Amino acid sequence: MDRRKEECRQERTLPKPPPLPVASTTYLYETRKSPHCSISTATKNTWDCLFDETYRADVSISTDNGGIIYAHASILGMASPVLRSMLNLKESRVHSCRGHQRSISIRGVPTEAVQIFIRFLYSSCYEEDKMQEHALSVLVLSHAYAIPHLKRQCELHLLERASITTDNVVDIFQLALLCDAPRLSLFCHRFVLKHFKSISGTQGWEAMKQSHTILEKQILKSVIDEDIREKEKVRKMNEKKVYMQLYEAMEALVHICKDGCQTIGSDDKVLKKDQIPCKYAACKELELLFRHFAGCDMRVGGRCKHCKRLWQVLELHSRLCADSDICRVPLCRNFKQRRRRRNMDGIKWKILVRNIVRSKSISGAPFFSLI
Ligand SMILES: [Zn+2]
Ligand SMILES: [Zn+2]
Ligand SMILES: [Zn+2]
Repeated sequence: MDRRKEECRQERTLPKPPPLPVASTTYLYETRKSPHCSISTATKNTWDCLFDETYRADVSISTDNGGIIYAHASILGMASPVLRSMLNLKESRVHSCRGHQRSISIRGVPTEAVQIFIRFLYSSCYEEDKMQEHALSVLVLSHAYAIPHLKRQCELHLLERASITTDNVVDIFQLALLCDAPRLSLFCHRFVLKHFKSISGTQGWEAMKQSHTILEKQILKSVIDEDIREKEKVRKMNEKKVYMQLYEAMEALVHICKDGCQTIGSDDKVLKKDQIPCKYAACKELELLFRHFAGCDMRVGGRCKHCKRLWQVLELHSRLCADSDICRVPLCRNFKQRRRRRNMDGIKWKILVRNIVRSKSISGAPFFSLI
């Protein structure tokens, strides 16, 4: 019993074990979820080791600031047609060979970016945090040395890690165009259109204006086009809203004439406790129009704007009504007969009727029926 107590005490005083190692390495084949890929982690580790330990490496790659990376000509040549030509060229120049060792240069990007790039050629792996730092340089390398699957990884990385900001988007956009990375360039273009005001004041934009005037003109044109598109979108939305309101007014008109509205009446009566308010927002306004029309002295001849409005509402209803013979809306049949007699079916009315019906049927409502 004492021994058990002692064990428990020891358990409490022991420090917690460190967390289990988390894989910080990304494997391209794992993210692809391909059912035909059966490359094991051990195999990938072997390829990583071959790169790290430079076992029988026969190529030295010179990078900026005196960096040297060792690699295997057969791996580089198989992975990249560009590197293969470079190595073949070196081989043909006998004077540049020292023993079996060949040397090439990859400059213009940080050494660490070249390391990520070369390691990817071995095992298709990279460290997330290092890629985060050098994704743009690796993108350039993957384009220059024709490694399309790494280019896609870089694009994904830049798009998914929210690495693009108003300050760097112009530079990334230009690089994406140069490196033929369509998803990235499309994203950057949309980003520029969305935040043009703040982006046009950045250093990146100023530099681009000096060095790439054609691109600047193209972007400015697309900003104007986008502005026109946006305005047109707003105009169409407002237009549709008006047609929807007219449609609802037509429904309310039938509701008043057919059922009689329960919640509004001659004295604008107050709702009883258990009474549900009318679902038609236009009811009250229509009721007021009817009441005004009944008592107005100027209703004939279109002199009163309120009476004229009610007249138009009634005519619109008549043009939309499916069966005027059984309709209870005032003047519905009269309007229809008058149109037939005079053979008048104005184009403006036709367009209005079509748009009202469309505005509702697009939004999934049942077909219009105003009887
Ligand atoms: Zn009502
Ligand atoms: Zn009036
Ligand atoms: Zn009718």
